[in-house]
Amino acid sequence: MKKHFVVIGLGRFGGSICRELHSLGHQVLAIDIIPEKVNTMTDYSTSSTVTDATDKEALLALGIKNFDVAIVAIGENEHASIQSTLVLKEIGIKVWVKAQNTNHQKILEKIGADRVIHPELDMGIRIAHQLDSDNIIDFINLSKNYSIVELKATGKLSNRSLIDLNVRAKYGCTILAIKRGEDVNVSPSPNDIVHEEDILVVMGSNSELKHFEEKGM
Ligand code: ATP
Ligand code: ATP
Ligand code: CA
Repeated sequence: MKKHFVVIGLGRFGGSICRELHSLGHQVLAIDIIPEKVNTMTDYSTSSTVTDATDKEALLALGIKNFDVAIVAIGENEHASIQSTLVLKEIGIKVWVKAQNTNHQKILEKIGADRVIHPELDMGIRIAHQLDSDNIIDFINLSKNYSIVELKATGKLSNRSLIDLNVRAKYGCTILAIKRGEDVNVSPSPNDIVHEEDILVVMGSNSELKHFEEKGM
């Protein structure tokens, strides 16, 4: 299903969202207050315009009301980010916003942002987990206490079936998938065998995952 997105603020974060959505085949309107920024996105958006995203009349004139989601990626200027979010919520569309710091994040949540993203903070957490363990390839927070991690299978797990490893009973976490090179086994059966260097995609509480990683791997 192709959707209509409006990306506001074409810095590194907004620019990369705009390019990726466009290459995925979605309709993307790119907006920035600076003409040079808008010019960089003309080839990577469906349409682009120099507009002040805090100006409600200007946004209404662009037909913003009919878009599925607005992404507010205005960085340094918190006031403009908040003002733009407020106006977009008044217009009545879904808004995802980049926050600059936790105070900014709280304000955005209070005024009704549908999702607040804090890229520097979130990426920092993910990278810290990768540094923390030699086995963690990637890490996704599901909630405060639950995560999905990708773990590289050690020799200890090699040539053992999922029944044999009994990870759910022993550690409480679930193996969602097994990646081997380009192959991904997305619903592993109990008799499937793990090889050394396979990537296990594992879901569980953070303490269960930690326990599995330290004792099971
Ligand atoms: P990144 O970290 O993603 O590179 P940045 O920190 O450089 O972004 P800024 O440059 O502060 O972010 O803001 C992103 C963009 O938002 C800029 O290109 C800026 O011109 C644009 N912007 C700022 N205010 C407005 C506004 N009122 N309306 C539209 N765009 C705006
Ligand atoms: P972020 O985007 O992650 O919030 P930032 O863009 O604000 O970070 P900077 O402020 O440019 O990043 O730099 C990050 C930190 O690196 C700052 O706290 C700064 O003091 C520190 N820093 C800059 N140069 C040096 C240096 N030569 N040696 C040690 N620390 C440095
Ligand atoms: Ca920045």
